[in-house]
Amino acid sequence: MTQQDSDRAKLGTLTRRTVQFLGKLAKGIKGVVNMEIVKEAFADLEGWTVTDTSMPFAITSSDQMKLFDGFGEYRIWGYSGAKEEKQYWYETQAKAEKGLEAFEREITHVGKSGPSSAKPGDRFYHMTRAVELQVSPVERWHFGVTGLWYGVPAWTILSPDGDTITIPQKLDEKGRLSKPSELKSGAFWKFVYTNGMQKEAQKVLAGLGHETVDKIVRPTQVRDLQDTGTCPVCFRNVKLKSDRIMRHGWKVQGRRSQGMYGQTWHTGPCFGAGFKPFEISPEGTKSYLSKVLTPMLLSREARLKELAKRPATLRVTIRPRKVEEITPDHPFYDQGLRLQTQQVEREIQSLKREIEDCKSRIQNWKIKPSGR
Ligand SMILES: [Zn+2]
Repeated sequence: MTQQDSDRAKLGTLTRRTVQFLGKLAKGIKGVVNMEIVKEAFADLEGWTVTDTSMPFAITSSDQMKLFDGFGEYRIWGYSGAKEEKQYWYETQAKAEKGLEAFEREITHVGKSGPSSAKPGDRFYHMTRAVELQVSPVERWHFGVTGLWYGVPAWTILSPDGDTITIPQKLDEKGRLSKPSELKSGAFWKFVYTNGMQKEAQKVLAGLGHETVDKIVRPTQVRDLQDTGTCPVCFRNVKLKSDRIMRHGWKVQGRRSQGMYGQTWHTGPCFGAGFKPFEISPEGTKSYLSKVLTPMLLSREARLKELAKRPATLRVTIRPRKVEEITPDHPFYDQGLRLQTQQVEREIQSLKREIEDCKSRIQNWKIKPSGR
């Protein structure tokens, strides 16, 4: 029997990835959770069960509304007075009346707090406002709904004490289901830890023996600095070509995903290519700070000032995929201005966070000897 075979024998029904996960739990670590691994790991623990279920998820953005498409010539996340509303717009009153009828027929009406349960793909709404006319600058009819919910897959976890929690597979801002392997859920960690999961995981791992666990929990091979290094811009471990960071894609992940969504420099190659790895030099980070982040912050701040002065024209997308230039007398101008202002404010905040992060990394930089 080889060493690997004997390790496998000791693991029994546990797999390498479930042991790694239990290792996290034993240390009380939180973070991104892979529900498929949770299911595997919990299947071996006494008293714990994970069941595939589903639940309603409240729609919170205009892009998520595409799950409720098929009504109106276009839809917007609008306002009626101060109240937030999802609106469907039509050319004529007759079309709007028909659209409302179809909407009420196809989508299930529920109370203010939403449905108590939902199968994946089920659609619900709360309240519709009757068809109304808007006259300026052109005649348009619309109706509005106050709440929308969409059924998403979920996992229900039952603890040995009989406590349960249901963790949804969330919808992202664009209305796409999150991957089961990349779930962010503070509720999950709170639930498992308050239900004694840390001790439970330690018990299972103790049964396997330190040596076996250490070998599995620790990565088997540490990449050699000769071939790879940390990109000074995205801080991922990437390949080197004659001591320089090789061209690699910019990936939305970790701290950078927050608020940076939709910015063009998020796709394509990473700015860190061609620099020395961060272990060797912080030059790449400095350059990114001065050549990318700082000018971008200045330009965003200038844009915010422009928006504050109510520009003579505003480029907006009222109908899907169609950019229009509108003037302040357009009925969507105020809303468009508000949304764009909020977006730029978010970008500024996010850039400031990233600038702070880069500055602190530069300040705390120390040369790292290879070998670690
Ligand atoms: Zn990079």
